[in-house]
Amino acid sequence: MNLASLQTKTEVRIDTSLKQDIFTLNGIQQSGVPLERVQSFMGIIRKWSESSDYSLINSENNFPDSAGLASSASGFAALAAAASAAYGLELSTKDLSRLARRGSGSAARSIPSGFVEWYAGHTDEDSYAKTIAPADHWDLADCIAIIKKEPKETGSTAGHQIAATSPIQKARVLDCSRRLDICRQAIKEKDFSALAEIIELDSNLLHAVMMSSTPPLLYWCGISLEIMKQVARWRKEGIPAAYTLDAGPNVHVICEGKYQDEIIKRLDEITGVLAILPSRPGNGACMLGLDKINNLPTP
Ligand code: ADP
Repeated sequence: MNLASLQTKTEVRIDTSLKQDIFTLNGIQQSGVPLERVQSFMGIIRKWSESSDYSLINSENNFPDSAGLASSASGFAALAAAASAAYGLELSTKDLSRLARRGSGSAARSIPSGFVEWYAGHTDEDSYAKTIAPADHWDLADCIAIIKKEPKETGSTAGHQIAATSPIQKARVLDCSRRLDICRQAIKEKDFSALAEIIELDSNLLHAVMMSSTPPLLYWCGISLEIMKQVARWRKEGIPAAYTLDAGPNVHVICEGKYQDEIIKRLDEITGVLAILPSRPGNGACMLGLDKINNLPTP
């Protein structure tokens, strides 16, 4: 589910005087791994466009990065759209999604709008995401309980690299298409209790793998667990809400839209919740200030 309120704006300006790409994130010029990741992605853009020019890249996220809120997904989707437009690549939504995946796997999902499915595929050609329902298909809300704003100690890429050391990763992957089928069906039929059960299982499995990796990765903190237990209690009381956690301690509480205010009120009462970011389903990548490039919509 794309989130309407969590956004990245990225500008790519080709500068023929540059000897390398320069990347500024939220006003701070980047170096080290974040810069190398962007430079390596720009290398793909240069290859696809047969260009040797470097660029000034300026990006702003309106939410904390490296905190389990998928800034890398949002960031590389925005970069894929902006950079491909700047270098004159006219890409279909499918190819843009394929391209974004090369920056961050989950960025493939932030290109198409609304509720999307990422086809695992076997090669780069067939691993991309597609809309399964538009943003207005189901009035859900994601109320993100922020517990920690600081960057996590171990980023998602490092987490992915050790997942195979967990003895349960194989079972998790084997069962993936079953969970995906249930999730897709739940979204299509707007069946909240089926959705709740499957997203909580999926999240618990992800964290079980990380906890049982070598070295173990414990992304939750005490308050994350407290919220997870509360959400399960609220659901028993009849409030359609479910939790899911990305690679970080912050908890996404998904609920039916009309319960958003009630969920925010309840989350606000939990000690240790620093802020709550609510969002409804949203569109994917779009071009700001440019018409019809990459066949993407304007806002
Ligand atoms: P998150 O949970 O926020 O996705 P990750 O560890 O997966 O955390 O990714 C964080 C990394 O994503 C950052 O260190 C940075 O390298 C990259 N990133 C975040 N925002 C952007 C952006 N707007 N443009 C390019 N890269 C970004």
